[in-house]
Amino acid sequence: MSQKLNLYLVPSDPEFIPGAIAIQQFKDRLHRDKLADVLGDVIGTGERLVEGGVTHISLDRPSAPVVWGNKTGGFSVSCPQCSEPMVREFNKAFSAWQGGAQERDVECAGCNRRAPFDTLRFRPKASVGRIAIALRDVGSPSLTGLCVDIATDLLGVKFSVVMSRG
Ligand SMILES: [Zn+2]
Repeated sequence: MSQKLNLYLVPSDPEFIPGAIAIQQFKDRLHRDKLADVLGDVIGTGERLVEGGVTHISLDRPSAPVVWGNKTGGFSVSCPQCSEPMVREFNKAFSAWQGGAQERDVECAGCNRRAPFDTLRFRPKASVGRIAIALRDVGSPSLTGLCVDIATDLLGVKFSVVMSRG
C-alpha cells in the first residue's frame, strides 16, 4: 500500500468558519512552536502533533462546502433515528447547500424526520463543513494533546477527526 493516510479535523457545526484573528493565531503558533514552516511542511517527524508522525499540516478552505472523508470508494449515509439509508436524499440536500440553500439537514424517507448534517451516520466516517485542519501523511489516527489543544483553539471544542486515504 503506497496510499497515505490523512486526517481532517472538521468543526461539528457545518457552517463554522474561524475568524481571521483565530486563523492567524493558528499559523503563528505552528511557526512559533517550530511545528511547521510557512508552507505547512512539518518540522521534524511531527510526533509532537500525531502519534507516529505527520509530514504536512494546513488549513483547507474550499470555495464550497465539502464532505470530508474518504476520497475513494464513496460512502453510505443513514438516518440517525431509524437507520434508513439516505444517500440519495443527502446528495440532493448537500448539493442544495453547496448552491447556497440555508437548510443543512435531510428529510428521511423512512421516518419523515429531519436529520441535521452533523447527526448523519456516515460509513466510513465522514463530516461535512466549510473548513478543516488537514494533517497529511500521518503515522496513526491518534492526535497528541498539543494537537488537540491547537485544533480546539481554532475550531472549538466540538470537532470530529475523519480519516482519508490517498
Ligand atoms: Zn429515519
